[in-house]
Amino acid sequence: MELMPEFDLHRPTAVEEAVKLCNETDGALYVAGGTDMIVNVRRGIEQPTALIDLSAVEELQQITEDADGLHIGAAVTLETVSNDVRVQKDFTAVAEAAAAVAGPTHQSYGTVGGNLCLDTRCLFYNQSEWWRKSNDYCLKKNGTICHVAPGGKRCFAAFSGDVAPAALIHNAEVDLVGPNGRRRVPLTDIYRNDGMNHLAIEPGELLAVLHLPKSEAGQPSTYEKARVRGSIDFPLAGAAVWIKQSSGKIDELRIALTAVNPYPHLIKGLEKFTGAVLDDAVLDEIAEIVQSQAKPMKTTTVKPWYRRRVVGSIARRLTKRLSEAS
Ligand SMILES: Cc1cc2nc3c(=O)[nH]c(=O)nc-3n(C[C@H](O)[C@H](O)[C@H](O)COP(=O)(O)OP(=O)(O)OC[C@H]3O[C@@H](n4cnc5c(N)ncnc54)[C@H](O)[C@@H]3O)c2cc1C
Ligand code: SF4
Repeated sequence: MELMPEFDLHRPTAVEEAVKLCNETDGALYVAGGTDMIVNVRRGIEQPTALIDLSAVEELQQITEDADGLHIGAAVTLETVSNDVRVQKDFTAVAEAAAAVAGPTHQSYGTVGGNLCLDTRCLFYNQSEWWRKSNDYCLKKNGTICHVAPGGKRCFAAFSGDVAPAALIHNAEVDLVGPNGRRRVPLTDIYRNDGMNHLAIEPGELLAVLHLPKSEAGQPSTYEKARVRGSIDFPLAGAAVWIKQSSGKIDELRIALTAVNPYPHLIKGLEKFTGAVLDDAVLDEIAEIVQSQAKPMKTTTVKPWYRRRVVGSIARRLTKRLSEAS
């Protein structure tokens, strides 16, 4: 780790002020809990001239509820989200995912917004400056080749946030605030399949609110991940599952993945199971579909084939468990 470099620290109290500061200051970045940003600054991965600290912006600290659903401010901590009884009851996977991030100390500082906007990760990228320099850096920063897939020009760093897949299965939306105002978009729209540039938001745009719709409330959902150290670790592979059943048959099934692609995403093609009874053959087919859409690369110390198989197993197990419980 490098020493902390020089930078200016701004502590705005309103969203618009934060956005203005970020957009009018060359090289400025947002920081919320800082649990990822500060590590990246000390590794020389991020070199901000200024950090815009979001912890004093009141609008971002609140969870509110109305007829549309639950609205979670971006700077609400993961600890608060996981302990909120409304989230636990109506959006269970989101509470479980927040409780699965790192360990308790990270959850007490780490925020929902920081988790959703987390940078992608790779064995060759999340290293100290001297380590990356002695390996000639890589495409994602300062280098010219990808050590994972040397022949190509793509980056396969994996998005490894826990909360995104859980929010995706609940058809969550987010508020983005930029210099041109506020817009509300489906959460799925802010991600793209590109490890180098996985956030499809405008430079300087701030994620202000995570909306969890009332229409989705109360349906059974759950999240689980595989990781090296159970007490504190990023997911090697994670899956969130949402299910709606009637008369013992599937009405709708949603599964979203994390840590096995450069972006968190909903599994495609699950509508074919509408009306199906969840027997072993159907569960096997679901696991196969999940595995076929997970494309982990050599971005962790754990082999890609294991991560692909384990994500299929997690999705199969969670689907069975939710179906039997509902
Ligand atoms: C040892 C260790 C283990 C970890 N394990 C996990 C894990 O298991 N699962 C996991 O998901 N994460 C893990 N993390 C990463 C991190 O702790 C969490 O993802 C946390 O939720 C990040 O939130 P934060 O508020 O601290 O974000 P910050 O570090 O403050 O910011 C993260 C990124 O988001 C941007 N950002 C923050 N808020 C906003 C906003 N409102 N709008 C736009 N951009 C924003 C920042 O500019 C930065 O790029 C781990 C980190 C460490 C150090
Ligand atoms: S996948 Fe390749 S380009 Fe991307 S961070 Fe890893 S080594 Fe670098």
